[in-house]
Amino acid sequence: MKRRIAYAFALLSSVLAVAQETPVQEREPGHGDNNKFSQMYDLMATPNMFRTASGAPGPAYYQQQADYKIDVELDDKNTRLYGTETITYHNNSPEPLEYLWVQLDQNKRSKKSLSPLVENQRMDPAYRPSAFSQNFIEEGFDGGFNIDYVQDVNGEPMKYTINQTMMRIDLPEALKPKEKISFSIKWWYNINNYRVIGGRSGYEHFEEDNNNLYIIAQFYPRMAVYNDVEGWQNMQFWGAGEFALPFGDFEVNITVPADHILDGTGELQNRPEVLTPEQLKRYELATKTFDKPIVIVTQEEAERAEKNFSDKKKTWKFKAQDVRDFAFSTSRKFIYDGMAVKLAGKTVMAHSLYPKEANPMWGETSTRVVAQTLKTYSKYTFDYPYPKAISVSAEDQGMEYPMICWNYGRPDENGFVSERIKYGNISVIIHEVGHNFFPMIVNSDERQWTWMDEGLNTFLQYLTEQEWMEGYPSGRGPAAKIVPYMSGEQKFLEPVMTNSESIHQFGANAYAKPATGLNILREVIMGRELFDHAFKTYANRWKFKHPTPEDFFRTMEDASAVDLDWFWRGWFYTTDYVDIGILQVKEYYVTEQQPEELKGHTVKRGRFNQDSGPFVYMVTGEAGKAAQKNTFDPAGVKLLNDYLQDSFTAEERAKLKSPKYFYEVTFNKPGGMLMPIIVELTFEDNTTEMHTFPVQIWRKNNQTASRVFATAKPVKKITIDPKLQTADIDVSNNVWPPQKGNSKFEQFEKGR
Ligand SMILES: [Zn+2]
Repeated sequence: MKRRIAYAFALLSSVLAVAQETPVQEREPGHGDNNKFSQMYDLMATPNMFRTASGAPGPAYYQQQADYKIDVELDDKNTRLYGTETITYHNNSPEPLEYLWVQLDQNKRSKKSLSPLVENQRMDPAYRPSAFSQNFIEEGFDGGFNIDYVQDVNGEPMKYTINQTMMRIDLPEALKPKEKISFSIKWWYNINNYRVIGGRSGYEHFEEDNNNLYIIAQFYPRMAVYNDVEGWQNMQFWGAGEFALPFGDFEVNITVPADHILDGTGELQNRPEVLTPEQLKRYELATKTFDKPIVIVTQEEAERAEKNFSDKKKTWKFKAQDVRDFAFSTSRKFIYDGMAVKLAGKTVMAHSLYPKEANPMWGETSTRVVAQTLKTYSKYTFDYPYPKAISVSAEDQGMEYPMICWNYGRPDENGFVSERIKYGNISVIIHEVGHNFFPMIVNSDERQWTWMDEGLNTFLQYLTEQEWMEGYPSGRGPAAKIVPYMSGEQKFLEPVMTNSESIHQFGANAYAKPATGLNILREVIMGRELFDHAFKTYANRWKFKHPTPEDFFRTMEDASAVDLDWFWRGWFYTTDYVDIGILQVKEYYVTEQQPEELKGHTVKRGRFNQDSGPFVYMVTGEAGKAAQKNTFDPAGVKLLNDYLQDSFTAEERAKLKSPKYFYEVTFNKPGGMLMPIIVELTFEDNTTEMHTFPVQIWRKNNQTASRVFATAKPVKKITIDPKLQTADIDVSNNVWPPQKGNSKFEQFEKGR
């Protein structure tokens, strides 16, 4: 249609239905609150040569490297671990270093540890005997590192100072840029029974056969991270904030009783020395089997070993490249299986280690879940770069290390597996194997930011769960699941950008909320294509490097051309929640008769007085001009049909829209968080139509927004966010006409 419309539209309206009695408060743009769209210069670190404004590593980016040669021996009878290590530390920074910081995480369990003293304590009226005993009677576990020596390459002692979980080694002369230094540490510690006193590593004791199942990590003094952001990241290990570790190459020799089965980070160098010829053959078969796990050490063999208690020893030798940590698991009780996994560009191995108590559940599921996780995560990030990934059965655990992780979930004593345990086990395996990507490879600082690995990982866990099984009952990811948290009491909420130690609801804050935020970005704000590309860009820019939150925020915007400052600002830096509602709806119709009733009415700003009737008129020529000048001559009203006849050919008319009903909808936003408005119109014939208004609809007015929906069929219902995709915390104001019994609770029940 080329003709210019020579008609003014005059509206004659009456309010037919009002969603709420509250009058619309028109506020000046930005009045009384900060502009929620302002760019984040106030919150983000200034870009520099190390980290650029695009979110990529800059031309001066560097990272330190720490290589380890470690020999450890397990004393199974006394549950102790003895070790010596040589660390070679490469100073790639542009600064000389006068001292080095080494992490002694086991010291959290030392008798001198301050960790228990920072917890609030209350007296309970009743105690379980074990808890009472632990709290008030027993001496307590004697954990923590015993350092025998720290010495230089010539065997001369080096000066060191231990401050709780951190050890400073003073260098005789500063370690210059581009130089490296080697030094050795000898140590031992009592291994904790983690099921009694907790911990991310330790052993589980099996009363029935008197065996231990060891999951060993944080077992050697580990270099702290030195970088352009923190200098030395030597914040103490209090228990919540996990680890910050540089990359390096490892050679680790682990000596354990000869009847143990063991696996750990890296590639095993002496498989023929530690497996039987039969087991070796099964291993070879597993490396060529892509459709199901092959049992390498059988349950029969494990049950035989359980009764053995050999006095002999075996040493398992590993090498690992470009890993930030090393962990291993060992027991007589282990069944061991594996299968090959084809990724886009390579083949890797998926493995599981589990005692007979975990079967048949683990034999059926674990390794298959490992394989699925590697495939899905690789698709959304990069091909899994390590040669293998191992899932270890360890009750009460969910903990990750490079190439190996501990996972809870076994059948009960009667062999029964509840739905809760079944899905809990699959989810924890996906989650912990997924941590290989974040933070083991995309190596963020866990001590400072729990969300950077837990949030991103929980997001991909959700995608993997849905690929594992359509309709998988994911606990975290779907927007509606975060509502109970985000609508909770503000004094127990912290922004996602809060240090790990100061978070009240750890799981909701650092796992679920960021994961849900990413899901909303993907499904509602950016769309899958733009989101997936940007997320992949972040993963690839920062794999085998140390990203910060800014690097993530900037990359997501840089790679997508979607302005996200408002989203990061609201979702990550505040505790604002989403609540968008329908404030009022005014209905209009196009008149089909000349309007007698218009006589004598005055017009204001193109509108007739509000008490005149719910009709829309087309006003022609002079009358139109007059209408704009607040006067009106009813003789100038033109009927729609006449207008169509006069202005368009039959051919053109066939292509025109034919709106008959007009709904002026005013949205309000009781919640502080911005969000696009998703609107579903339901017509009287029960068909529906979706409209999404970008978040920028709020850019000049943070309180209300209005839209007109012109439809050919009458609308009987208008719903905001009908699929519960935006984490709107109160859906009772989401529907017009307001519905009885449309409580928040019922809506969420329906949405599930
Ligand atoms: Zn995690």
